[in-house]
Amino acid sequence: MIAAALARLQREGVAVLAAAPVFETKPVGPSLRRYANSAAVIETALDPPALLTLLKRIERDFGRRTGGQRWTSRVLDLDIVLWSGGPFVGPGLTVPHPLFRTRAFVLAPAVAIAPHWRDPITGFTVRQLHARLTRLHALRR
Ligand code: ADP
Ligand code: MG
Repeated sequence: MIAAALARLQREGVAVLAAAPVFETKPVGPSLRRYANSAAVIETALDPPALLTLLKRIERDFGRRTGGQRWTSRVLDLDIVLWSGGPFVGPGLTVPHPLFRTRAFVLAPAVAIAPHWRDPITGFTVRQLHARLTRLHALRR
């Protein structure tokens, strides 16, 4: 699914400069579902709102009936985590993604492709944010 989504982005004219390995995430809480997470560095002329519109269209297309197979409505979640243009806040869109600093399933793949990318809000790099988060978890255990 992730490979297909990246291929679709490229067909839409978005350059995929780097793609992280796929990480399998065990469910938190009562859900039995497991997730596959990854991250990519992309280059596009689209501004963040236009990119989000494209991402939502791709999510919707992937939720559609294809052939005999019926996908659920939430087979794919595409988020904008960071943007080289700095922070961006608009209607229904906040970049950096408001929750990315507390989500290991975002930070772990991001470390694989963009460890030195700096969060413009906290000033920490992706690698530092990931290290802080995983250390915090280790302390709680
Ligand atoms: P999440 O991505 O946080 O797990 P959802 O995919 O359900 O949750 O996102 C819900 C809404 O969050 C989207 O419809 C979108 O409008 C909004 N949103 C705000 N900031 C972002 C962002 N940086 N990337 C993607 N969606 C965002
Ligand atoms: Mg989302």
